[in-house]
Amino acid sequence: MASSSYSNSPCAACKFLRRKCLPDCVFAPYFPPEEPQKFANVHKIFGASNVSKLLNEVPPNQREDAVNSLAYEAEARMKDPVYGCAGAISVLQRQVIRLQKELDATNADLIRYACGEMPAPQFGRRPGHGGGGGGGFNQNSGFYYSSPWSNGDDNGRGEGSM
Ligand SMILES: [Zn+2]
Repeated sequence: MASSSYSNSPCAACKFLRRKCLPDCVFAPYFPPEEPQKFANVHKIFGASNVSKLLNEVPPNQREDAVNSLAYEAEARMKDPVYGCAGAISVLQRQVIRLQKELDATNADLIRYACGEMPAPQFGRRPGHGGGGGGGFNQNSGFYYSSPWSNGDDNGRGEGSM
């Protein structure tokens, strides 16, 4: 065992739980004493015994990734008790969809412009882009939605087709 790297100060988990940090402590490699908040968050959201059980079920070479994932999810859950990290994922997914639509429309404009079918491009609006124009530039007002799951007709992809 790498007892030389083992310091006397308990890991963040054992310090938090006020127990003796033994050399085979399952938390010690992933919760160093310098990062007390990391364990505090994970413990508050998942519970220390659940984290301990989970770590024991995961192969040692994947434990660090598991802990990083738990820490990320716990921090997101603290910031957003309702959606947690799923809220951030949902917002980013919608952002990707919106930007993809915007890119498709801009590429279509570029092709029309290159073919001489339309006058000089005017940024901020797209003349000649028919249809209701429900999506696109009008929705750039903000990245954050009050409720990430309230899928309106925002996901409709019909607008970009020619
Ligand atoms: Zn420990």
